[in-house]
Amino acid sequence: MVSMRERFLITNLKGAVTPDPARAWAVDFIPDAALAVEEGHILWMGRRHDLPAEYKGAPILDGRGRWASPGFVDPHTHLLFGGDRSQEFNRRLHGATYAEIAAAGGGIKETVRATRAASVGELVAIGAERLGKFRHKGVVHLEAKTGYGLDLDTEGRLLAAYAELKSRGWSLDVTLMPGHDLPPEFAGDPDGYTRIVSEEWQPALVKRHPGVARFCDVFVERGVFTADQGRAMLESGKRLGLTPRIHADEFCSTGGAELSAQVGAASADHLMFASDEGIRAMAAAGVVPTLLPATTLFLGMKDYAPARKMIAEGCAVALASDFNPGSCACIDPLLVLRLACLQLRLTFEEALCAMTLHPARSLGHAHLGHLHPGASASFLLWDVKHPLDLVYWMGEAFLPEIAGLPR
Ligand SMILES: [Zn+2]
Repeated sequence: MVSMRERFLITNLKGAVTPDPARAWAVDFIPDAALAVEEGHILWMGRRHDLPAEYKGAPILDGRGRWASPGFVDPHTHLLFGGDRSQEFNRRLHGATYAEIAAAGGGIKETVRATRAASVGELVAIGAERLGKFRHKGVVHLEAKTGYGLDLDTEGRLLAAYAELKSRGWSLDVTLMPGHDLPPEFAGDPDGYTRIVSEEWQPALVKRHPGVARFCDVFVERGVFTADQGRAMLESGKRLGLTPRIHADEFCSTGGAELSAQVGAASADHLMFASDEGIRAMAAAGVVPTLLPATTLFLGMKDYAPARKMIAEGCAVALASDFNPGSCACIDPLLVLRLACLQLRLTFEEALCAMTLHPARSLGHAHLGHLHPGASASFLLWDVKHPLDLVYWMGEAFLPEIAGLPR
């Protein structure tokens, strides 16, 4: 393998496909492409016969007739949790309702119990295995939340585990989310929980784990937290230097999209029931609507997010996995890409932007999500006749090679 530090060329590519960061929603398909790479970054990308003289003579990596694309960026995962909920999944198939499962101590409570019982070392091992699966499928960077501890101690252990994963070289952004649900200790008292999270826990967690979390998040939904409670937790995060993201309007409209614009959130996520005013507010404020179609599929719901309306209003829509044990036990970026085309009615080009450039922007990374000069050299090589094959042959488990990173 060629060292990523030296300058080298990748040629013999069937083509390269990439969003253009300078033009909204533009995707270029460049046949017979070549890329010049140095120090882990792309110096030049274009048609091979246009290669500038200065790059000729560099060592060559054989593209073996494959297509290059940017690596996927996943801007919404709940990476770290203990246990799983496959038994509950089958109980639902046998006809049990969410309320019955929750009354029997299942649902998110089960995950909180398992996560509270896990040591930092166990959480790191779980996280490394899952990150390996994401990378295997072409995800080169992802966002990962806390939120299955719901107490000061466990939320801190989750941050410590994320810090360890980052120190091992995994490329991820961490989001602090004690406002994921109401813990059993605060049953019936969401105002009290909002207060302790905003005034005590978040400041203490950021102080004990400086620089680990970059974002904060909260679940604004009927029966979870109101927009005002969400606002209090997000404003507390902002005072600590964190940028808000929001779980908004997943099961009904409770003003989550509007709140995301008011607090200057980087993203508002889910949005199946976002109001028209909320969509316009996100567009005006530059909030990235982040859609999670695999969750809609996993929950057996019919209402996919109104992606076309968001694009028509000028939103830079992004896609994410929402990987979590309750509503989307799925590490499969191609499934998300396919659902975006088949259910959200995005074109292939739009879906590619939403899997790469737009999530990278919502996470503040100009070097991810495209193949133009300055981009990270951790791009994907696909053994396909054309990138459209990734969606069209919808049952195929295409696996990319990630240039510069081990599989
Ligand atoms: Zn989520």
